[in-house]
Amino acid sequence: MIERICPKCGAANVHLRPFATRACGGIGALSGLATAAKAGTTGAALGSVIMPVIGTAIGGVMGTVAGFFVGALSGASIGHAIDRKIIQAYHCDSCGHNFAA
Ligand SMILES: [Zn+2]
Repeated sequence: MIERICPKCGAANVHLRPFATRACGGIGALSGLATAAKAGTTGAALGSVIMPVIGTAIGGVMGTVAGFFVGALSGASIGHAIDRKIIQAYHCDSCGHNFAA
């Protein structure tokens, strides 16, 4: 990560404002839900092969949770790349100044 300096007070105590990280994380979580529905079905099918009834339930839940997190994490990582490369909005922790790179 490239070091940024606040143009107002000169402090290096600045961080990227995660606009797209949050937005894309949310979108990713939603698309993750769609994936989760499929992953849940797959997990349930696998679980029922290993152990009917209990395995079906556990497999379904595990598949759903995994699908949801994969979606949310991949969305957030795409969003973080957008924040870093495109939006480049920074916030200074020393003086509270907001600035673009
Ligand atoms: Zn500052």
